[in-house]
Amino acid sequence: MSAVFLGSFVAPNTLPEQRQPRVAILGRSNVGKSSLINLLAGTKIAKVSKTPGKTQTLNLYVVKDRWVFGDFPGYGFAKVSKVQRKTFQRLVDHFLNEDHFQYAIQIVDSRHPAMSTDMELHEWLKSSGVKHLIVLNKSDKLNQKERNATQKQAAISFPGAAIIFASNITNEGKREIEITLDQLKS
Ligand code: GDP
Repeated sequence: MSAVFLGSFVAPNTLPEQRQPRVAILGRSNVGKSSLINLLAGTKIAKVSKTPGKTQTLNLYVVKDRWVFGDFPGYGFAKVSKVQRKTFQRLVDHFLNEDHFQYAIQIVDSRHPAMSTDMELHEWLKSSGVKHLIVLNKSDKLNQKERNATQKQAAISFPGAAIIFASNITNEGKREIEITLDQLKS
């Protein structure tokens, strides 16, 4: 089975136990989180939406029996009440603090590599000691000049991070992400 949807979760104590390493997929709404999961799964398991998410659930997927991906739709950016935001924050914290949690992929729109929300998330991952990869997504939309500018800016916005370009149109980055994730041990 290439991918299994474990469900959408709203409460920390309901998260299922899986043996595979857990990988958080983080980033603003519409940046391509679901698309990246589908690219790695090789099937359309995650729902790709055209409307920026308001859903405050954690969607879990087991992909290729190798990793558990936690997709946080619109993490921290959805227009929700304070109470909902707090509940979701608890769910995120729970996922990140689990034994099996190993890694985060932070997806950034390669056309906008200097957004403060993205830089804040990266700072937060760094200060929390969460190992992570910055994926500059939708690279297919850049010409060579824009790509060079993005590369320069990303090194400034996300200092010290591993950074790669990716696209689900050209498959750029896919192999590199797989190699990185294969190094995680469950
Ligand atoms: P999410 O909200 O972060 O899960 O984003 P989605 O995966 O739902 O993608 C949002 C939109 O961006 C959809 O219309 C996707 O088809 C599009 N998209 C995602 N990744 C890419 C990419 O690499 N290149 C291009 N051109 N479009 C992409």
